[in-house]
Amino acid sequence: MNEAETRHQDFIRQIVASDVAAGKNDGRVHTRFPPEPNGYLHIGHAKSICLNFGLAREFGGTCNLRFDDTNPEKEDVEFVDSIRQDIRWLGFDWDNEYFASDYFEQLYEWAVQLIKAGKAYVCDLTVDEVREYRGGWNQPGRNSPYRDRSVEENLELFERMKSGEFRDGERTLRAKIDMSSDNMNLRDPAMYRIRHATHHRTGDKWCLYPNYDWAHGQSDSIEGITHSVCTLEFEHHRPLYDWYIEQLGIHHPQQIEFAKLAVSHTMMSKRRLTELVTGGYVEGWDDPRMPTISGFRRRGFTPDSIRNFANRVGITKHNSVTDLALLNLCIREHLNKIAPRVTGVLDPLKVVIENYPEGEFEMRETAINPEDELAGTREVPFGRELYIERADFLVDAPKKFFRLTVGGEVRLRNAYFLKCNQVVKNEADEIVELRCTYDPQTAGGKAPDGRKVKGTIHWISAPHAIDAEVRLYDVLFENEDPSDVPEGQDWKDQINPNALVVMTNAKLEPMLADASAGDQFQFVRNGYFCVDSKDSRPGKPVFNRTVTLKDAWINEQKKGSVS
Ligand code: ATP
Ligand code: MG
Repeated sequence: MNEAETRHQDFIRQIVASDVAAGKNDGRVHTRFPPEPNGYLHIGHAKSICLNFGLAREFGGTCNLRFDDTNPEKEDVEFVDSIRQDIRWLGFDWDNEYFASDYFEQLYEWAVQLIKAGKAYVCDLTVDEVREYRGGWNQPGRNSPYRDRSVEENLELFERMKSGEFRDGERTLRAKIDMSSDNMNLRDPAMYRIRHATHHRTGDKWCLYPNYDWAHGQSDSIEGITHSVCTLEFEHHRPLYDWYIEQLGIHHPQQIEFAKLAVSHTMMSKRRLTELVTGGYVEGWDDPRMPTISGFRRRGFTPDSIRNFANRVGITKHNSVTDLALLNLCIREHLNKIAPRVTGVLDPLKVVIENYPEGEFEMRETAINPEDELAGTREVPFGRELYIERADFLVDAPKKFFRLTVGGEVRLRNAYFLKCNQVVKNEADEIVELRCTYDPQTAGGKAPDGRKVKGTIHWISAPHAIDAEVRLYDVLFENEDPSDVPEGQDWKDQINPNALVVMTNAKLEPMLADASAGDQFQFVRNGYFCVDSKDSRPGKPVFNRTVTLKDAWINEQKKGSVS
């Protein structure tokens, strides 16, 4: 890990360091990661995970995992399990695991305490009426007609709300703060709502559920959190966070906000990701096109690359969009170091070398990973019949096409010069085979007579090759900001239909038949690939392309320069 080198002393780390130096909280550092279990974690959550667990690690502190499970309808144990798995996979472990629902009883008691202190009241206004009474940005709100209920009446009604006497939405418990505050969050915010729903942990015990602001800060306090890190949109909630804690006179964590991660071509709203899954636009939360941790994992991203990405993005107070190219760079850098080089021909075209003896083979030596000397070399068979990439041959080649063409010569990687003499077509007029000759004098990649070839292409021995399915991925949204939807269109209209291209007829080196789920390779010239963890079978491997070798590869191809 070179995380330490790339990590900046960001403003949050500075705050924590000075708190520790000043002996605040007795020098303790205690953070938490508080996901709502209503979906799978995405790359944005990875930023928050790296920050919260990272702070605990760096300052010798503690980080809790807390499931913020206060919306029973949308939450599920499947999500709880996936969240645990994804955090572990990213390389972090939590000191304590809690659920906000663990605190329902305590929160209820505290609410009673606020009612008794005249700081909370039961309100009968409907959702629409509450909105109307709240006022606007330049317009103060009006007091609810129920605001001055007696403590006794509030206590009785609140008790009846708990015991299930009222229907959903019929009443709320609200904090009594200030209906003319400039901060809308302080205009008597709701603390509790009635929901007759079965909760994945508390079952039907409660029909009264705490609102986010009421549950969150108090949960932080109960757990003794010192630094409650959240994203910028909660900045205006901080006065409310502080108000509740001050009214109750309990341990006061410090809320600190930082900018959310946003990545170009990437949609991160859980609501929309859920829609992609339930609407069948992708094959599940771990579809390699998804920006989820499980999608990235299945696609072949490493934990190292994602942590590195999070650290390079850094922690700031300004919202901005990070170029997807940075994430691709991080995974390329890592795989370049660790991935063995192999050959995979994605769209094969048969080559017959007519001057190579039938039935004979020779072994050509190739480096397993030129970036890693210790990886050594291995041998691959070369013979009369090969496959090359269909795109590496053109009949009517433009001038700058440096690959194979009729009458032209090209270098076979780690082998000889090859010349194409004739094409063989089928009845449908498609090219099915190239008749070629090789020059035995060019084994070292050079011709003794000094003649030059400009291009080098990869190849694979046809009788040795195994069949495989290879899945190529592209961005799920072609527009840089997928939430910026042109008028009259739905955001889903912008899904890139070519985000997945399946090559069903790929030919791979035989050693890849034994690869296991998740194994990673560089297919020379074609990118980095991993064995799919769900659909791959022995003898019928499926590979996912994690990332191409260069973002500018398409331009390179256009220029015809290959390496
Ligand atoms: P959504 O609003 O899409 O439902 P969320 O972001 O509210 O999702 P949570 O499960 O509440 O999802 O998030 C858990 C934690 O992860 C929160 O502390 C939140 O601030 C943080 N987080 C979520 N998205 C991002 C992001 N894009 N960048 C950084 N942190 C994030
Ligand atoms: Mg949330």
